[in-house]
Amino acid sequence: MHMEGEVNRYEVIVVGGGPSGLFCAIFCAAAGKKVAVLEKMPSCGRKLLISGSGQCNITHGGDISSFLSHYGEHGKFVKPALMQFSNQDIIAFFLDRGLGMITEPGGKVFPVTRRSSDVLEILLAECDRHGVDIHCSEPVLGVETRTGGFFVMCGKEDYHADSLVIATGGATYPVTGSSGDGYSMAGSLGHPVTGIAPALAAVLVKDYPFADLAGMSFENIFITLSRQGKKVSQHRGDLLFTHTGLSGPGVLDISRYILQGDILKVSFIPFQEPESARKTANELLLQGKGVLVSTVLKGLSLPERLVKRLLGQAGVVSGATCAHLPKSARNSLVVMICGYPFQVRALGGFDQAMVTGGGVDLGEVNPRTMESRLHRGLYFIGEILDIDGDSGGYNLQFACSSGVLAAKSITGEE
Ligand SMILES: Cc1cc2nc3c(=O)[nH]c(=O)nc-3n(C[C@H](O)[C@H](O)[C@H](O)COP(=O)(O)OP(=O)(O)OC[C@H]3O[C@@H](n4cnc5c(N)ncnc54)[C@H](O)[C@@H]3O)c2cc1C
Repeated sequence: MHMEGEVNRYEVIVVGGGPSGLFCAIFCAAAGKKVAVLEKMPSCGRKLLISGSGQCNITHGGDISSFLSHYGEHGKFVKPALMQFSNQDIIAFFLDRGLGMITEPGGKVFPVTRRSSDVLEILLAECDRHGVDIHCSEPVLGVETRTGGFFVMCGKEDYHADSLVIATGGATYPVTGSSGDGYSMAGSLGHPVTGIAPALAAVLVKDYPFADLAGMSFENIFITLSRQGKKVSQHRGDLLFTHTGLSGPGVLDISRYILQGDILKVSFIPFQEPESARKTANELLLQGKGVLVSTVLKGLSLPERLVKRLLGQAGVVSGATCAHLPKSARNSLVVMICGYPFQVRALGGFDQAMVTGGGVDLGEVNPRTMESRLHRGLYFIGEILDIDGDSGGYNLQFACSSGVLAAKSITGEE
C-alpha cells in the first residue's frame, strides 16, 4: 500500500479533463465543492477539439426520449442521465454563456461558430470561474480506497479525495490522451470491465475498387448486411467512399454489428428500398430505347463518376443506348446499382474508430447517480462506461449528461 505523505486534498477529484469530466467539475464546484481535475495531457479536451471534424456535433435535435434507441441495448441505463440534463439543457447552457447552437436538417446540433474550440473555451472558463483546480500533464497512475476517501497516485504529486470521478474516456484515438487507462483503475477497485472494441468504425473492404473515388458521398441510401449468404439486417443512412472502404454515418452506426467477412450490399439509389430500386432501374433500362444508358443512370441520382465506373465494370461502352444493352449487361448493372457487394476485410482499429464499444460494466454502476455499487463516493462517467452511442451527437450528449448527474449526486442536489 502507498504511504500517505504530503498529499493534496480535495473534496472531489475528477480524473480526465474531457467533456464528461469538465461538466462534472463545473457542477460540483458551482455547488461549493473543492474540486481538482487531473489531466494527463498538457491541455484538456483534445478529443472534444477533433469531434465532428473540429466542428463539434455536441448533441441532436428532437425530444430527448427519442435518444434512448441510439445506444444499442443500453437505452435504459442512459435514461436517468439524459432526462436530468437533456439536449435542450446543453443548448441552454452554452447559449447562456454566449454560444448559440444550430440544428442541421438531419438533426445534428453544432455551435453556430462551427468550432469545437469555442465549446472547450466555455467549459474551461466555467471551471476557472468556479475555482476548479486543473492540473495538466498530471497522469494518474493508480487509485486506492482509503478510509473516508480515495488516494490518487500521479507522476508528480499524490492526492486525496472524498469523492473520486473516473472520466478517462475510451481507448480510441489514443493520441488525444484517451488510451484506456481508466479500465485498469476500475479493475484495481474491483470493477469488472467488459471486452472493449472499436465502435463507430469505418469498414475496410477486400479488393476495394473505388479508392480513386474517395470522398464521394451518398445520402439516404439502403445498406444490407449479409453473413454467410444470409441477410442479417437492413439499414438506411448516408455513406462515404474512403481510400480503403466505406464510412459515413450509415456505416459507422451499424459497425457494432459488422464482422470480418460480412458482405455489405449498397443500393445507390437514394430513398428507395433495394427491391423497388431494382424494379425501377430494370424498367427504365428496358424501356429506354435510344436513350444513353449513362443518362438513365444519372437520372437515378447516381454521381457521374460512379456511373462511368459501373459502366466500365459491366463492360458497357460509354456511348451505348438502352436499345443496344444486352440482357446480361443490364442485369449486372442493376445488381451493381441496387446491391453492390462489398466484402468486409476488417473494421477500422482503435486508432481510427470514433468511440469504444464496451467498458466499465454497467451492472456495478447506479444509473440514477453514476456512483459505483462497490464503493461509496466513486463515480464513472462518459465513454469509460460500457456505452457507445450512434453518430450524430449522442456520445457527447451522454458524456455531458453523465457528468452533470454524478455532480448532482456528489453535491446532494439530485
Ligand atoms: C474523431 C472523433 C470525432 C468525434 N466526433 C463526435 C461528435 O461529433 N459528436 C459526438 O457526440 N461524439 C463524437 N466523438 C466521440 C466523443 O468525442 C467522445 O465520446 C467524448 O469525447 C467522450 O468524452 P469523455 O469525457 O468521456 O472522454 P474523453 O473526451 O476521451 O476525455 C478523457 C480525458 O481523460 C484523460 N485521461 C486519460 N487517461 C488519463 C490518466 N491516466 N490520467 C489523467 N487523465 C487521463 C484524457 O487525456 C482525456 O483528456 C468523436 C470521437 C472522435 C475520436
